[in-house]
Amino acid sequence: MLQTDNLTFHYPNGPSLTFPDLRCAAGEHWLLLGPSGSGKTTWLQLLAGLRTPTTGRIVLRDTNLADLRGGALDRFRGREIGIIYQQPPFVRSLSVGDNLALARRLAGLPADAERVHRLLDRLGVSHKARSRPDRLSVGEQQRVAIARALVNAPGLILADEPTSALDDGNARRVSQLLREVAEAVQAILVIVTHDARLRQEFDRYVELAGTPA
Ligand code: ADP
Ligand code: MG
Repeated sequence: MLQTDNLTFHYPNGPSLTFPDLRCAAGEHWLLLGPSGSGKTTWLQLLAGLRTPTTGRIVLRDTNLADLRGGALDRFRGREIGIIYQQPPFVRSLSVGDNLALARRLAGLPADAERVHRLLDRLGVSHKARSRPDRLSVGEQQRVAIARALVNAPGLILADEPTSALDDGNARRVSQLLREVAEAVQAILVIVTHDARLRQEFDRYVELAGTPA
């Protein structure tokens, strides 16, 4: 369960953003829609505990994010939340496989080479496990980014504009892939995007209104 109440975020030298309340149950797939600049990335960062809301609260699986600080918040995020960023935060000097292994270590979880291999295999990129991320095609990097987000078996998967740069066919493939992997582990899937093409594929969506104040 992911629940938010009365969330706002005020950038000191920027806009004040207000976000609709969310109630997402395990296994549900949500689209958070809004035009460019409406606050989608900020919203995702709040949900991930990467920013602290100005007002309001975020509860994930009985944990109020505001109750966690520093290392405890980082470990909670690492275990409970898989984030697919617009720019994947790969360590360039490490292989794809070692990047996934690092994501487990950072969350304080034991190494699991078998799981890393299985995930890469499932996403069709196990033959790239020993390659550096920047040697991969954009599509392969995206699959590895999804694998990285899943390696700790999170209950919540957050994705920032995963399809915006893709043509229709690839956009559908990526959103299908995200829904499949989320379904397989009964995770909540939350995609923030301005890509209205996805709307027909999702029953549940929330729209962020236009330009912020
Ligand atoms: P979106 O992802 O929907 O395009 P963002 O969450 O990135 O929107 O940004 C929402 C609003 O906040 C925009 O008006 C943007 O210019 C502003 N903004 C984003 N980051 C900062 C920042 N670090 N400082 C000040 N304003 C920011
Ligand atoms: Mg954004």
